[in-house]
Amino acid sequence: MNYTYGPVPSRRLGFSLGVDILPYKTCTIDCLFCQLGRTSNLTIERGSFFPKEDVLSEILTLARRENPDYITFSGSGEPALNSDIGWLIREIKKEVPQKVVVLTNSTLLWMPEVREDLKAADIVVPSLDAGTDEYWQKVNRPHPDLEFDRMIEGLIAFSREFSGEIWVEILLVKGVNDTQENTDAVLSILSRMRYTKIQLNTVVRPPSEKSAVALSQEEMEIIAERFPPNTEIVSTFQKRGKHVSAHGDCERILAALARRPMTINDIEQSLGIPAERAEEVLKKLTAEDKARKTIHGQDVFFESLK
Ligand code: SF4
Repeated sequence: MNYTYGPVPSRRLGFSLGVDILPYKTCTIDCLFCQLGRTSNLTIERGSFFPKEDVLSEILTLARRENPDYITFSGSGEPALNSDIGWLIREIKKEVPQKVVVLTNSTLLWMPEVREDLKAADIVVPSLDAGTDEYWQKVNRPHPDLEFDRMIEGLIAFSREFSGEIWVEILLVKGVNDTQENTDAVLSILSRMRYTKIQLNTVVRPPSEKSAVALSQEEMEIIAERFPPNTEIVSTFQKRGKHVSAHGDCERILAALARRPMTINDIEQSLGIPAERAEEVLKKLTAEDKARKTIHGQDVFFESLK
C-alpha cells in the first residue's frame, strides 16, 4: 500500500480508509501538536506528487476489499497541497459508495481552485484552532507567506459555497490556545460561517513538541459550555473491530505505524489483530529497532522508526 492505510479507527469517523497523497511530511503549517513530528517540507505550492491513476486504483481496490465506513484524505500533511485531490474525489464518488472526507487545516481555502476541489467531498473537516493571527502563529506556526485574515475569509467563503457537511475541528493545547480570549475569537469567526457541528479536540497522541500538553476532560467540558449546542468533545474510539486474517500482521502493523502512532487497542480495532498477537508483533518490531514505545498521558503508543 503506497497511498492508503487502514482502515484505521478514527475517533470521529468510525472505520476509515486513510488516503495519503503527500510525501512525508509536507504541510503548509507546523503545528505544535502534530503527531507526525516537525514539518520537514513547509510549503504552500500545490503539486501532483504521484501518478493519479495509480493512487485512484489503490483507493478503489482497498475500498472494495475492506468496505470501510469512510474514505478520508489526511495523512502526511495538508491534503489540499495535492492538486489531484479534486479529480481523485470525483472519480472515487463515481465508483464506490463510501462517503469521502477531507481533513484540512484550512490554510489554502483562500484559493478558489482549492475550494472547487474540496466541494466534491461529502464531508470537510476544517481546522480552526486559533481565532487571531497571534494564536495562529503560536499553535499552528504557518508558512510565512500565509495570511490569517485571508485564510479565514476563504474558510467562510467555502462554508457558503459547499453543500456538504462541515465539521469544524478545534484542537486545544493547554496554556497555548485554551484561553477565553482565543475561544471568543474563534466563536466570532464561527458566527460568520455555516457549519454542521464543532468538534473540540486536544493533544491525544504524542505531539511534535513536548510542550504541547492535553487539557483534562473537565477542562474540555468547561470550554465546551461556551460553544453552541452542536459541539462535541471528541471521545475515545470504541467501535467494534473488523476481523481480517492474521496473514502479514507484521507488515500491516508497520504500515499503519508509519502513518500515525497507535496504541494496542487502536491496532486491534482497526486492523482486526487481536491484542495478544499485536503485543507479540510489537515486541519483535521493537527488538529489531523498527518501532518504539512512547508514553503520552495515560496511554502507551507505538511509533515507527522507519
Ligand atoms: S497537524 Fe496536520 S496541519 Fe498541523 S502540521 Fe501536522 S499535518 Fe500539518
